[in-house]
Amino acid sequence: MADFEVVPLRAFSDNYIWTIRDAGHAAVVDPGDAAPVIDYLAREKLTLVAILNTHHHADHVGGNAALLARTRVPVFGPHDDRIPEVTERLADGQRFMLPHFNIEMETLEIPGHTRSHIAFHGGGMLFCGDTLFAAGCGRLFEGTPRQMHDSLTRLARLPDDTRVYCGHEYTLANIKFARAAEPGNGRLLELEQQAQALRAQDQPTLPSTIAQEKATNPFLRVTEPAIIDSASARAAKKLFDPVSVLAEIRDWKNNF
Ligand SMILES: [Zn+2]
Repeated sequence: MADFEVVPLRAFSDNYIWTIRDAGHAAVVDPGDAAPVIDYLAREKLTLVAILNTHHHADHVGGNAALLARTRVPVFGPHDDRIPEVTERLADGQRFMLPHFNIEMETLEIPGHTRSHIAFHGGGMLFCGDTLFAAGCGRLFEGTPRQMHDSLTRLARLPDDTRVYCGHEYTLANIKFARAAEPGNGRLLELEQQAQALRAQDQPTLPSTIAQEKATNPFLRVTEPAIIDSASARAAKKLFDPVSVLAEIRDWKNNF
C-alpha cells in the first residue's frame, strides 16, 4: 500500500476535514471550510489532488468553490445538483482510483441523513460523512428509519478492522446516550474513559473501527435484546422489528 497518512483538519465547532496526505500531495474529504485546508496545504507544502464529498450539507461542501478557484482538481461526489462543483458523479458500487495515491475507492450509497449521501470505502478506510458516527448515527433529515437501518447494516458488513472516519466529533455525547440505551454494555464504559482521556488532551476520538461500532453503537445493535427492551420501554409497547427499534432510539436521541 502507498505510504500515506490521514490527518484531521478541524472546521467550525466539531467538523473534521479528513486529509489523506503523503510528503507532497493531499486529498480532502468534505471541506466545509476552505481556510483550514488552504492553511494546512501551505504550511506542509502540499499540492491538492482531489476533493471528496459525502453529501450536500454546507458544512461538508462549503469550501469546494474556494479550493477549486486556486487549483482545479477532480471532485468526487454523489448524483446531486445541490453540489454543483462535483465533476465525478458516483453511483452505488462505482469504483475509482484516488488521484496520486492509487487507493481504489468504492462508492456506497447510504441514504438516511440525506437522500443522496454516499460513503467512500478503500485502503482499509471508510469515510462515512454524517451517516455513521462513533457510537451514533446522523439525524434523519431526508431519509427514513428503514433507509438508515439498511445503510448502517451495509456499513456494519465491512471488515472489522476498517478505520471509520466520521464527519464530526460527537463521540462523548453519543456514548452518553448509548449508555442510557444499553446500560449493561461494559464496552461503553471503557470507550467513554478512552474518549474522555483523548478529549482532555484535545485529541480526536476518531477514527473508530467497524468492530468498535458493532460492539458499542446502539444504532448498529437494534437486534440486541437490551436495546429492544429500552426502545420498547420508551415506546410503551413491545417493538419487534429492527427498523422500529432504530426509529424509536433515533427519536429518543433527538430529545436526549
Ligand atoms: Zn450533514
